[in-house]
Amino acid sequence: MHVQEINSILNKESFTRNELLTLLQANDLQSDMLYKRAQLVREQHVGKKVFFRGLIELSNQCKKNCLYCGIRTSNSHVKRYSITDEEVLSAAIFAWEHGYGSIALQAGEKTSSHFTQRITQLLRKINKATRGELGITLSLGEQSIATYKQWFDEGALRYLLRIEASNRELYAKLHPQNSAHDFDKRIEALHALRNVGYQVGSGVMVGLPFQTLEHLVDDLLWMQEMDLDMVGMGPYVEHADTPLFQHKEMLLPAMQRLELTLKMIAILRIAMKDINMVASTALQAIEPHGRERALKAGANIIMPNVTPGAYREDYNLYENKPKMSDSNADYTKTLEESVVMAGFSVGYGEQGNAPHFKRRSN
Ligand code: SAH
Ligand code: SF4
Repeated sequence: MHVQEINSILNKESFTRNELLTLLQANDLQSDMLYKRAQLVREQHVGKKVFFRGLIELSNQCKKNCLYCGIRTSNSHVKRYSITDEEVLSAAIFAWEHGYGSIALQAGEKTSSHFTQRITQLLRKINKATRGELGITLSLGEQSIATYKQWFDEGALRYLLRIEASNRELYAKLHPQNSAHDFDKRIEALHALRNVGYQVGSGVMVGLPFQTLEHLVDDLLWMQEMDLDMVGMGPYVEHADTPLFQHKEMLLPAMQRLELTLKMIAILRIAMKDINMVASTALQAIEPHGRERALKAGANIIMPNVTPGAYREDYNLYENKPKMSDSNADYTKTLEESVVMAGFSVGYGEQGNAPHFKRRSN
């Protein structure tokens, strides 16, 4: 593939399957062209700001058994925790006081009326303590429509639920075969969230065992078809205490999984110009500057971890998950410096909602 051919693909507004495949196969030089083009689109459509979402990992208790995840219910090596309401509140206030426009509450999947009520109360307390100024994102797995509504009515704006793999057969290889891990239900959940009124985020893991470039093309087309407001894509990082670990020898080297993720981000930025896209923490697990590289490939969101330090060790979705204490003022400064070094600025005190959502709600 010649430079001119890549250039002519990059100047298009939308891509065919073959063009997507060609872009995913780009060599180093061609990837640089791809990233430059994504950067331009990003500047034109979402600007040069990077928004921080303080990530609070509420609990690692999970009823599900996803074959890739370190906190799956069958992993008996995990010390299970649930942080207290006071701790959640002080983490939210930390984020707010440091000018993070938003927070994200994430946890393993739990469905009970007690859990629904607890989150409802927490949303109330957080909104009260921060004058309703924080944009709140939830990432709490599949719930009932009534629960999504209840949380939305308490002021949660956004919901993240990754499809993980949009190809049905691949999804089946990553999850147990039962109704708790049903592909169609996951898709229905995303539609339900959109109908309730949330800004909807989804995404996939990149570099999974059994995953081909064709699957990634499917993912890129699926995310466009779903008309998502937000996307989170990160490299798959193996975890020794999970069933998927036995397929370790099928994996691309970690750096190649990272490069492939960067290409996915850049291509999607060109195809879905005004969405929010996160530079995921899993990138940082592979390379210390992985997140900054994602910013340069078109991502515009970073989720600094503000979970109290004592619990960090136990929210181990994958190996080498960074555990340093983001939740101190120095860290915010360091992170800002790295964002500025990468050529961007931090959107302090702004929620940073995706222009895409505003456009589709009009
Ligand atoms: N329980 C919720 C949210 C917590 S898990 C849910 O599953 O939706 C958050 C994300 O962590 C998942 O969506 C998955 O994409 C990611 N994750 C889990 N295990 C991973 C692994 N081994 N490598 C990379 N990402 C992983
Ligand atoms: Fe639970 Fe989410 Fe991990 Fe699946 S990915 S086991 S739902 S925490």
